[in-house]
Amino acid sequence: MSFDQSAVLPELLALSHEFGEGGLVILGEGNTSCRVDDETFFVKSSGSSLQTLTANQLTLCRFERLLSLMDRDDVADTEVETCLLESRSHPAAFKPSVETFFHAYLLNLPDINFVGHAHPIQVNRILCSGLAREFSENRQCPDEIVCCGPISLLIPYVDPGLALAKRIRQDVEEFRRTHNKLPRVILLRNHGVITIGSSVQAVRAAMLMTVKAAEIFTGAQLLGGLRHLPASEIERIENRQDEEYRRKMLKI
Ligand SMILES: [Zn+2]
Repeated sequence: MSFDQSAVLPELLALSHEFGEGGLVILGEGNTSCRVDDETFFVKSSGSSLQTLTANQLTLCRFERLLSLMDRDDVADTEVETCLLESRSHPAAFKPSVETFFHAYLLNLPDINFVGHAHPIQVNRILCSGLAREFSENRQCPDEIVCCGPISLLIPYVDPGLALAKRIRQDVEEFRRTHNKLPRVILLRNHGVITIGSSVQAVRAAMLMTVKAAEIFTGAQLLGGLRHLPASEIERIENRQDEEYRRKMLKI
């Protein structure tokens, strides 16, 4: 599938600005990306800020160069740097984010065209606590299931960059085997959140709803203890026809 670059760029910039303005990231934190065609994708450049991101701070990269390095072991930091620079489609473009590797992997999954990554305080409070697993495996409210799926994928803390991308690949593959579907939300312990989807709306909805769910989760815990939705109700929401219609209308 191939996108019109002039159509996806404003969408990706709007998502990036929303993450920045919504306080989901500060300074150079977080990154966003979108697929352009089978060979290339746009990703935030290293050191740029999501809140003020401009079109020339989105770097067009080639998948192949990045994905081939993910298949190798014992890669030196200097080789990672070289690979990031060589993955650019245009030599004058800014160096892409160090997290470009996981974007390249995730954008090659079926029906995944957009990826968003942020460090929201509300979610990181939980991901830096002993309740991260409980948050990832449970749901409190119906709309959390609609936007985030019935369960999120929790990844242990791994060094950002190539090592994290390899761990995400390993755990997403295991999630697919176990659940027969992709996660919508990937939670990184002591780090942040990744949301993936076919549309920019899906990535936005999963991120905003994860932040809202985190607020509810923490608040309920402080009010004396969590009461999760039972598994039967989660399955009901996940498979309801009217929820499928809402998903379609919201493009999520
Ligand atoms: Zn990050």
